[in-house]
Amino acid sequence: MRESRIKKTKTVCTYCGVGCSFDVWTKDRKILKVEPQMEAPANGISTCVKGKFGWDFVNSEERLTKPLIREGDVFREAEWEEALALIEGKFKQAKDTYGPDSMAFISSSKCTNEESYLMQKLARGVIGTNNIDNCSRYCQTPATMGLFRTVGHGGDSGSITDIEQAGLIIVVGSNTSESHPVLATRVKRSHKLNGQKLIVSDLRKHEMAERADLFIQPKSGTDLVWLSAVTKYIVDQGWADEAFLMNRVNGLDEYVKSLDKYTMDYAEQVTGLPKETMIQVANAIHESPTTSVLWAMGVTQHLGGSDTSTAISNLLLITGNYGKPGAGSYPLRGHNNVQGASDFGSMPDRFPGYEKVADDAVRAKYEKGWGVTIPAKPGMNNHEMVSGIHAGDVKVMYLKGEDMGMVDSNLNYVHEAFEKLDFFVVQDIFLSKTAQYADVVLPAAPSFEKEGTFTNTERRIQRLYQVFEPKGDSKPDWQIIMDIANRLGAGWTYHHPGEIMAEAASLMPLYAGVTYERLEGYNSLQWPVAADGTDTPLLFLDEFPFPDGKARLFPVDWTKPLEYDEEYDLHVNNGRLLEHFHEGNMTYKSKGITSKTPNVFLEVSPELAAERGLEDGTLVRLTSPYGSVKVSCLVTDRVKGKEVYLPMNDSGEGAINYLTSSYADKDTDTPAYKETSAKMEIL
Ligand code: SF4
Repeated sequence: MRESRIKKTKTVCTYCGVGCSFDVWTKDRKILKVEPQMEAPANGISTCVKGKFGWDFVNSEERLTKPLIREGDVFREAEWEEALALIEGKFKQAKDTYGPDSMAFISSSKCTNEESYLMQKLARGVIGTNNIDNCSRYCQTPATMGLFRTVGHGGDSGSITDIEQAGLIIVVGSNTSESHPVLATRVKRSHKLNGQKLIVSDLRKHEMAERADLFIQPKSGTDLVWLSAVTKYIVDQGWADEAFLMNRVNGLDEYVKSLDKYTMDYAEQVTGLPKETMIQVANAIHESPTTSVLWAMGVTQHLGGSDTSTAISNLLLITGNYGKPGAGSYPLRGHNNVQGASDFGSMPDRFPGYEKVADDAVRAKYEKGWGVTIPAKPGMNNHEMVSGIHAGDVKVMYLKGEDMGMVDSNLNYVHEAFEKLDFFVVQDIFLSKTAQYADVVLPAAPSFEKEGTFTNTERRIQRLYQVFEPKGDSKPDWQIIMDIANRLGAGWTYHHPGEIMAEAASLMPLYAGVTYERLEGYNSLQWPVAADGTDTPLLFLDEFPFPDGKARLFPVDWTKPLEYDEEYDLHVNNGRLLEHFHEGNMTYKSKGITSKTPNVFLEVSPELAAERGLEDGTLVRLTSPYGSVKVSCLVTDRVKGKEVYLPMNDSGEGAINYLTSSYADKDTDTPAYKETSAKMEIL
C-alpha cells in the first residue's frame, strides 16, 4: 500500500472571476486546509467562505465515476470504450445525414482555457461547424460588446490594484460583496483607509450599498438613461476631458448630438432619480482624479444590456478615464473562467483571441495550423441553439460542464428542447439537471483533479496543479474531448495541457508569450502577452486596439424594459448568495457551506409583507407566464415595494429560471433575466 503523506498543492479557486490562488493541504483524499496565498495578486487579502470551505464536493459519493448510457427512462453504467463508440457512431451519422451545422457544442466557464480551446477546435476543425458557445452568453457578453464597440478590448481595463487606486468607484448593478467577495473587501478597504469615494447604483440595498457614500436606486432597466444624463451634464458643464478626446477618441460630434434627449428632466421622469442626485454623481466624477466603473449582471441582463455597457464606456471616454492607473471599465466576470472560455474561442463568431471567424486571413491561419477546412459562416449562440432544436435544425448537442437546464432562461422551454434532441452528450462531475436529459453522460474531473490554466476578471492567467487523481473512471475534460476527436479521426496527441497552451499561443496573438514555464507556481501574466513574455497589467496606456489607435464614442439609445402588469405585479430581481455558486451543484455538497446557508429564500419588502400578510418563513408560490417556483419568504428592507429578490442558487423547486422568459439583449441574445415579473400566492 502506498504510504500516505501530507501534500501542499497550488490551485486557483473555481467560484468566481476574482481568481484567488491558494495552497490546498491534503492527506490521501482528505482536504486538511486551504491556505490563502497573500502574495498572489488576485487575492491580496484572503479567501472568502466558498474558497475556504467549499470543496467537500470533490469527494462526494454523488460524483460520476463511470460513463452512463440511457436505456429508456434510466441510465446504466458503461465502460469508456462503449460510450465513446456510441458517441462516434451518432456524431458521424448526424454529420453525414444532416450536415455539420446540425450539431451544437457548449463549452464551460468552469473548465480550463485548454479545455475551451479543444472544445472549439473539435467543433470547428473536426466536425466543421461554428456552433460553439459558452455561458458568458448568459452574463457578460453584453459588457464585452460595449467594450468592443468603444475601446476594442472586451476585458477589464486594469488590475484589481488599479481599482484600489481609483479616486472614485462607481458600482452599477453588481452585488459585489456576495458575487466577488475578495475584490469587494479590497474596495471596502481602500474606501475606508484611502479616502476613495464609492457610489453604488442598484435596485437592492445590499452590503456594498450600505457602505457607499452615495446609494442610488433607479427603476429597473433604466441605467442607460441616468448614465447618459450624467454624461450630457458633464459635457454641458464643459467638464469633458478635451485633450484626451482630441488626441485619443473618434466620433465626438455625433455622440454629443445623440445625448440631446438625455436631459435631467427626461432622466428624472424615466429613472425616478431626483435631478440633484444625478448632478451629485456628475460632480463626484468631475472632482475625482480618476474614476473606475464596476458592473455586472444588473446591467447586462436586460433587453438593452449591450447598450448600457456601451453607455458606461462612453462616460469613461468623455471624462478621459482610460489608460491611467485607477481609471477604466471593470465588467466583473462571474464564473472563474468566463474570461478564458471566451478568450479561447468558445464563441460562434470568434476564434481564440477574438479574431473573427468571417475573416479569411484568420481562418486560413487556423486551417493551416490545424490542417482542416473551417466554415466562414458564424455559428449559432446558445440561445439560438435552443430555438434551433425546437425548429428541427439542431439534432445533436455535446455540452460540457454547464448545467444549462438550470441556468438558461425559460427552463420549461429549454427542457422541451433537450427532449427533442436526437442525441445529447453531457459531460459533468455530477448527474446535473441537464445531464438527466442526456443519452450519454461522461464523468469529468473537477479542478482539483487536473492541470490547466484559468483567466480571471483582470485578464490574469494562472496555473492550477493537480491535487488528487481523478475519482473512479472520471477524466479531465481535455482528455475526454481528445478521445472523442480521435474517434472521429482527428489524430490529436496532447500529453499535457501545457502542449495545448503552446499550440494555442502559437495561433492567438493575445496569448503569444504565454507558456507554462512563465506561469510556474504563483507566477501569472495578464493579456495581451507579447511573444517575449511582456504582459499588460493596464490596457490602453498609449493606444486603443483600432487601426488608428483611437477609441470610438458609440451613440446608443435606451430600450424600454419589459413592463409588469396588474396580474404579474411583482418585479423579480435575481442574483447570487455569498455562500453558493450558481445552481449549487458543488456548494450544496459541501458541509462547510450548507451548514451556514442550507437553501435560498425570497426577499420581500416590509411594505409587501404588510400588504400580503407575509412573515419570515411564509411559503409562497411565484408564477410568471413561463412557470412557477415555491420558496420561503424573508422580510428585509434590502428590497422595497413590489421588488422581490430570488437568488439563482437553487436547482429545485425554487429555481429562478422557471420564471424567466426567452426575451434577450437585442445585440447579443443574453437573456433578460432581470426583466421578470410574477404573481404571488401564499401556500
Ligand atoms: Fe476568491 Fe471568488 Fe473564490 Fe471567494 S469565490 S475565494 S473571492 S475566487
